[in-house]
Amino acid sequence: LNPCDILLTITARFDAKGSDHAMTTRMRPIAEIPAETCRQLRGVFCDIDDTLTTDGKLLACSYSALWKARAAGLAVVPVTGRPAGWVDHFARMWPVDAVIGENGAFIFWLENGKLQRRFVQSAAERASHRRELETIREQVLREIPRVKVATDQAYRESDLAIDFAEEVQIDDASVPERIVAIFERHGARAKISSIHVNGWFGDFDKLTAAKTLIDEIWREQAASIDRYLYVGDSPNDEPLFAGFFQSAGVANIRRFQKRLTHLPRYVAERDGGEGFAEIIDTILARRA
Ligand SMILES: [Mg+2]
Repeated sequence: LNPCDILLTITARFDAKGSDHAMTTRMRPIAEIPAETCRQLRGVFCDIDDTLTTDGKLLACSYSALWKARAAGLAVVPVTGRPAGWVDHFARMWPVDAVIGENGAFIFWLENGKLQRRFVQSAAERASHRRELETIREQVLREIPRVKVATDQAYRESDLAIDFAEEVQIDDASVPERIVAIFERHGARAKISSIHVNGWFGDFDKLTAAKTLIDEIWREQAASIDRYLYVGDSPNDEPLFAGFFQSAGVANIRRFQKRLTHLPRYVAERDGGEGFAEIIDTILARRA
């Protein structure tokens, strides 16, 4: 056991002691998900960074889990802050039914071999917001040393991504919040992921995009979000943990446990891509 594992073990035992507090805040092991819940699931929505990936790489086991989930009849929808240029690729080439990108700015999916793109904002709105984000970009780079614009920025349609932990390593824990404050001073919204702060103008978000996909594009009934499971790893997944009736975290979510009000209902034993594969394997075994 490394020190981190020992700490996790102690935390898990402390949580398991059972009190009212533990009842409302404890994440249950994914192994405890009921078979009936698994059988009723229509699909899985999942974060990408540090959920499907480990140390920035898409693992063979997590990619394989996407294929297995679809083969078992589940819809699969990655939900990410990653840019339109990447989401175009994910939607065309990955075994997925749709992809939500740039924190809910759009949904891309393939239909009869053609890429369908549904944006929340019009092309004119997006162009005007890009000009306003340019001002924010200059201010962030001026006021906060060592952060940089994310290298995937050129492929974005709707937001500005500031890198504090992907290609730069900044130990000052106040930096992400200070970046958020600059966005908010300009009337923009901002979210902290495990690697970037993403900011944008307008009121789109990942949960609303997920509901739009289910209700308006797939034309299912409004309550049907209850039949989907969301899997994530960090505070920017919190609204989806709260909005989806079924949710699970990969083990690395324990890093952020103290900062979360809405924890996922279940948690994997393993981190990142291995944790995602563990969650899918558990669900598929229970459905069989
Ligand atoms: Mg993540």
